Amino acid sequence: MNTTRELFNVRTPADALQTLLGALHERAPRSAARGDAQAAAGDDAFERVATAHALDRVLAEAVAAPGELPTFRRSTMDGFAVRAADTFGATEGLPAYLDVVDDIPMGHAPRMELARGQCARIATGGMLPAGADGVVMVEATQSVGLTTIEVLRAVAPGENVVQPGEDVRRGDPILPRGHRLRAQDLGGLLALGVTSVLVTRRLRVGIVSGGDELVAPDQAPGPAQIRDINSYTLAALIERDGHLACLAGLVPDVYESLKAVAENALSENDVVILSAGSSVSTRDMTAQVIDSLGEPGVLVHGVSLKPGKPTILGVCAGKAVFGLPGNPVSCMVTYDLFVAPTLAYLSGAATVPRRTLSARLARNIASATGREDYVQVRLQRAAVDGALEALPVFGKSNLIFTLIRADGMVKVPLDAGGLSAGSTVEVVLF
Ligand code: AMP
Ligand code: MG
Repeated sequence: MNTTRELFNVRTPADALQTLLGALHERAPRSAARGDAQAAAGDDAFERVATAHALDRVLAEAVAAPGELPTFRRSTMDGFAVRAADTFGATEGLPAYLDVVDDIPMGHAPRMELARGQCARIATGGMLPAGADGVVMVEATQSVGLTTIEVLRAVAPGENVVQPGEDVRRGDPILPRGHRLRAQDLGGLLALGVTSVLVTRRLRVGIVSGGDELVAPDQAPGPAQIRDINSYTLAALIERDGHLACLAGLVPDVYESLKAVAENALSENDVVILSAGSSVSTRDMTAQVIDSLGEPGVLVHGVSLKPGKPTILGVCAGKAVFGLPGNPVSCMVTYDLFVAPTLAYLSGAATVPRRTLSARLARNIASATGREDYVQVRLQRAAVDGALEALPVFGKSNLIFTLIRADGMVKVPLDAGGLSAGSTVEVVLF
């Protein structure tokens, strides 16, 4: 250990992440690890869950429609099912007269077939009777007595009707493997009677928080002590991303203690995050501990990033191990940049669950070239034109409340010397 060491060998964030994913890939190629055949064989990387409870889960196999939707001809309007030919030429001045022979109940097949000159009252979603091929909406009709209507406008065959299979046809590929299920996906699957889906297992992520100064949130900190933040922000991020967080607890800056807790976390989890101690002073032992956990150990130590330069990415015994900087802001930013995409990759997800939006930058942001900067911003409406603006929230690094006041963060690219007020930026929302 050398107190004057520096992080000289910094990598770009993109290169650092690729290095990690590459090392994980060698260990478990996606194609082999996530094949449908293995899924069928009951590989524990997958599990079958109730579709109703599969929000945000990642499909382990593509889903094809087992049937068609709709399964019968349905009206898209409240009105009258008609034979379109009976309405041809109808206008307000010269309406067509039709006999109302039925009132089609929802959820039941019509009792009779329409003959010429007949119509049947139908509600949105009701089943068209045989003989009918269109629906005239109620606004385009007028009652004449109890059983006759005037049709004031012609309807074309097929008008205001959805045909069987028009929504989805049997055998249509509807959702690909790797898709993260959204509310409408659950609805569509259940509409087809797909009541369970094969998804990738949630990953267990162990969190080890290191630092002599830390106490649990329910403790009163002594002089120079602080309450642990990172265990909880990391756990919340992990759970938001659809995985399981496992808090291994607080560990003092003692090599043997940290190694023992980290070793145990590695054996019990799919991924391990060590918070703090990731820099290069004598008190920072995260890198050494990761190297001791298994081959190849530390792959990246130092990233051209602010906040988050002292970030460690490693692989031990085939599992991703992260050493994230203790500063709560750095810790959250580096989770987003490195841990989230790794969890997505390991769970076979096609995308990282993130929401972004474009906004106009309200102030200049200065930055050094050769470093990727992430600046917290608050979103607001500009007084001048009501456009969405991103206002940088500046503050000394180590202040958790800069994050609380922010709605998201803006990236200043590696090669940019800053961003100018008025430019359009992409905001990654928290
Ligand atoms: P380190 O990464 O160990 O150099 O820590 C950087 C800063 O983050 C120090 O001010 C630590 O006190 C603080 N810090 C480290 N771990 C945590 C934590 N779990 N919660 C809140 N602050 C932390
Ligand atoms: Mg520390």
